[in-house]
Amino acid sequence: MSHVILYVEDNPQNMRLVRKMLKGGGYEMIEAPDGQTGVRLALEFKPDLILMDINLPDIDGLEATRQLKSNPKCDHIPIIALTANAMHGDRERFIEAGCDGYIAKPITRNELLNTINYFLGGDKPANV
Ligand code: MN
Repeated sequence: MSHVILYVEDNPQNMRLVRKMLKGGGYEMIEAPDGQTGVRLALEFKPDLILMDINLPDIDGLEATRQLKSNPKCDHIPIIALTANAMHGDRERFIEAGCDGYIAKPITRNELLNTINYFLGGDKPANV
């Protein structure tokens, strides 16, 4: 049975790119275009891992992460933050909100798949 990944992302181009990478990696994918849909789908489908964009049209990725990590039904699901505008202190903010990991955009296939594999119990990649 393949692992299921939820990607919360409002940018269709990023969604398309990551969809390709995940399919290539043998993952199943669930897609949410905003934070509230992301929280709802996470609770409904209990994915194995969540990729979370930070800048979203409704609640941001940090708030969505806080909601998921404060709910015992889904607080065990690893959440990896994805963001383009990584600034000093961002990593700390993401971790504080409950994100388990962090990937800076632009996303590369290797970094994405290695990081996902690690959080699903595989070997630790160089970037984590
Ligand atoms: Mn966005």
